[in-house]
Amino acid sequence: MDHAEAPSRLLHGACHCGAVRLTLPSLPEKATQCNCSICRRLGGLWAYYEFGTVKVEGHPEHTAEYIWGDKTLRTVRCAHCGCATHWEPLAPEAGARHGVNLNNFDPELVAAVQVRRFDGADSWTFLD
Ligand SMILES: [Zn+2]
Repeated sequence: MDHAEAPSRLLHGACHCGAVRLTLPSLPEKATQCNCSICRRLGGLWAYYEFGTVKVEGHPEHTAEYIWGDKTLRTVRCAHCGCATHWEPLAPEAGARHGVNLNNFDPELVAAVQVRRFDGADSWTFLD
């Protein structure tokens, strides 16, 4: 899929019940599948954007959060259907990134991105 021809509907995603809705500022070219202890359980497929550039509706009124480890970010899920929607920094600094779970988007979008496997469990490097 050429990004210039990509239908704009692919920019819109939502959790299963629709209480949390996400709009991307642009189509992602890459996504990261991480094997760390939280990502492998969530099954997240993360695309990264500058924090604040992704429109997130229904958050925080319909979301629950999980904070662990060094407490730098929160993993956010829908409080109703349980789908992990994104993670965000707890104390955002200029240029901070946040991750959006592409599994809440059209499978056509997921099929078009290059998925990179990240070894967050051990070496902290990409495996490809
Ligand atoms: Zn939901």
